[in-house]
Amino acid sequence: MTGSAAPLGQPDPAGLAEPVLELREVTKAYPGEPPTQVLHGIDLTVRRGELLAIVGPSGSGKSTLLNLIGTLDRPTEGTVVVTGHDVSTLRDADLSALRAREIGFVFQQFFLLSGLSAIDNVADGLLYTGLALRERRARAEEALERVGLSHRLHHNPEKLSGGERQRVAVARALVGRPSVVLADEPTGNLDSRSSAAIVALLHQLHEEGATIVVITHDREIAASLPRQIEIRDGHVVSDSAAAVA
Ligand code: ADP
Repeated sequence: MTGSAAPLGQPDPAGLAEPVLELREVTKAYPGEPPTQVLHGIDLTVRRGELLAIVGPSGSGKSTLLNLIGTLDRPTEGTVVVTGHDVSTLRDADLSALRAREIGFVFQQFFLLSGLSAIDNVADGLLYTGLALRERRARAEEALERVGLSHRLHHNPEKLSGGERQRVAVARALVGRPSVVLADEPTGNLDSRSSAAIVALLHQLHEEGATIVVITHDREIAASLPRQIEIRDGHVVSDSAAAVA
């Protein structure tokens, strides 16, 4: 399956969009006596513009994988390449800079700052850029419009519904125009209606060109996305893209 792949970080000769995430033979073991081997030889390529699910039951290794592709942790063995940068070659400060620039995160628990308006929560996603506050707020307003919240700019999270809070979190993840958005159980705290609305929003953002990886245990949500990678006991057991490759 990987035999015909282009060298890591290089454009694909078949004219496919360039990879934003590439994992080769990635393993992860947590220290202990004996160590806990959680991921076994993961191979994975995500290309610019994709919307996909990494799906698996609780304990299958999804959070561990998310931490690796989000550059929050490093693999025990193997290679993780984010937008052409081999994570193992970067110092911690450079890795943080890469993460801030290239990756947007959305979490089940939203992680918004209470007491700050929606627009300032989103503008905070641009702190690393050094842009002036006025410019950060202007971009935050645009991002909130993109997620359908232009009527909630000055509301604090406490005054927003769960679905609206998650829209703010999605706007914060997108505002820096990252190469990829990683959404960890993004509907896990939502009722079914808000959940469907967030999934619809992810589809809309995908149609507008965003690259989005959804980590979920919810097979129904996974099935509604264009590509599913199934993980079980730390192995990729199926990848729907493999059928069309
Ligand atoms: P999921 O997100 O799919 O529920 P996780 O990646 O959280 O799976 O966990 C996979 C396995 O790794 C589980 O058996 C879990 O107990 C173990 N694990 C996770 N984090 C650690 C850690 N820091 N130390 C030791 N074992 C861990």
